[in-house]
Amino acid sequence: MTESVPDTPPDDGPVTQPVAPTRLTVLAGPTAVGKGSVSADIRAGHPEVWISVSATTRAPRPGEQHGVHYWFVSDREFDRMVEDGALLEWAVVHGAARYGTPRAPVDRALAAGRPALLEIDLQGARQVHAAMPDALMVFLAPPTWEELVRRLVGRGTEGEEERERRLATARLELAAEEEFDVTVVNAEIHAAAEELVALMIGRPGPDHPA
Ligand code: 5GP
Repeated sequence: MTESVPDTPPDDGPVTQPVAPTRLTVLAGPTAVGKGSVSADIRAGHPEVWISVSATTRAPRPGEQHGVHYWFVSDREFDRMVEDGALLEWAVVHGAARYGTPRAPVDRALAAGRPALLEIDLQGARQVHAAMPDALMVFLAPPTWEELVRRLVGRGTEGEEERERRLATARLELAAEEEFDVTVVNAEIHAAAEELVALMIGRPGPDHPA
């Protein structure tokens, strides 16, 4: 583990008595389906849910904070985390930067009995499924392919070539839905976030009555 990526979640809180480990939930889905928006909505409204902060070698975008949105690390630091076995999963996303889930904070959150969420790409989701077969695998799907394309193009943060590459990736990623335990359709961010939390902590949601 590197100095810049502490192995203790900052918001862990003291554990006063033994609790049953909770189940890990993995949220994956195609590019631009809104995984980040859904997890941000959960972060804002559900402090009881622990959300993993990934390490990445990509540069921060404006407004992104080290340790909040990602741990922004150098290639060398990422190499060291891989060598140390400090990552639960990692992948090169969109043929560009590397992204990975620091393992120790996940273990700690689960041991503390907190519902824990990973928002990662499909390659990472497959690795977690192999390593932790009990993890609940949730696929976030767009309402339609046209809507996904609109979101992908509308975001406007990537150039033409990068957009095409992401679209090609999205086609492959959509086909992976059948590998997952459950699908949540992201027609509206807050509703999708609430549905996901209901799945995670067993509360009844609109599509999952008690
Ligand atoms: P962005 O650079 O737009 O924040 O994220 C690009 C992609 O990387 C998203 O699909 C996101 O789900 C994925 N990603 C973020 N963190 C991780 C991680 O820790 N592991 C993996 N495998 N993918 C991640």
